[in-house]
Amino acid sequence: AKLGDGNTLKVFHINHQNEEMRPELYLVQELKEAIVNNELVVFFQPIVSVKTGEVHYEALLRWFSSRLGLVPTDSFIAAAEESGVILEIDFWVMGKVCEHLAAHHEELHHVSINLSIQTLESPDLETRLLSSCSKYGIDPGMLEIELTEHTLLEDETSLIKKLRCLRESGFKVAIDDFGMRYASFNYLRVLPVDKIKIDKAFVQNLKRNSKEDHIITSILALAKKIGVNVTAEGVETVEQAEILVAASCDELQGYLFGKPAPYEHVQTAFEQAKKQWSRLL
Ligand code: C2E
Ligand code: MG
Ligand code: MG
Ligand code: MG
Repeated sequence: AKLGDGNTLKVFHINHQNEEMRPELYLVQELKEAIVNNELVVFFQPIVSVKTGEVHYEALLRWFSSRLGLVPTDSFIAAAEESGVILEIDFWVMGKVCEHLAAHHEELHHVSINLSIQTLESPDLETRLLSSCSKYGIDPGMLEIELTEHTLLEDETSLIKKLRCLRESGFKVAIDDFGMRYASFNYLRVLPVDKIKIDKAFVQNLKRNSKEDHIITSILALAKKIGVNVTAEGVETVEQAEILVAASCDELQGYLFGKPAPYEHVQTAFEQAKKQWSRLL
């Protein structure tokens, strides 16, 4: 059909409108094929222990779509959560990370993975985690689960039980994006966890004597009292790192230490970045 042909334009218009109405439906369809088509890649970002200088990594998923290009992780994770595809994705990441830990066990002591609430609520999560670990000969203590909650948590009691079981099996558990939800402090009160990760929103505006400084310092004091470790995410400047170190934050993560990257690149980048911050720790 030629341009200007009424029908073609109409069809184009309808398709276009459909995509604008529910772009996430289109995303989900593509996402389902992404795993089989090898379009998903696990990136790693370093997290530095302030006390020991030891490094571990967080696994962050990337989707290089042949049709859409690099799709922002936040947006496809949201679509995956809405549609339920997230389970398959999280289990895939879990397998990849275990495989990775096995391949690099001399240099890696643990890796953090993000699991959505839906995945945590899946009845066979623990079985699948444990069988992944035994398949690759990995100790559960080498896996830390970051609880990422984008959808509303409905039933706390089952989640509490689930987390307790996971920790009894040796897995570590952290609350991600701490401070960004109304229920953050209640989670800290009721959920059995090893760690909280202060959301980057607080860290990005962190300056001496700022509101963020006072909030973070208070969270750290509180976490110390209840025996929970604290990671600060989104650390980009030396000043932010200095404030966090002075406030006894346990771990730091952010572009200052390295951006998420394929594992082959992550170590050289980390060594280069070290010049900027090494005198701090
Ligand atoms: P998150 O777990 O809170 O991860 C931190 C996000 O902040 C990552 O975004 C990371 O790339 C970014 N970041 C780290 N340091 C800095 C910094 O210094 N400055 C700035 N501006 N950003 C920084 P990313 O990789 O786009 O991931 C977004 C979110 O997607 C994650 O947030 C997590 O909630 C979710 N996610 C990622 N991978 C997975 C996965 O495998 N499964 C599930 N369920 N969720 C995942
Ligand atoms: Mg995370
Ligand atoms: Mg986070
Ligand atoms: Mg986040």
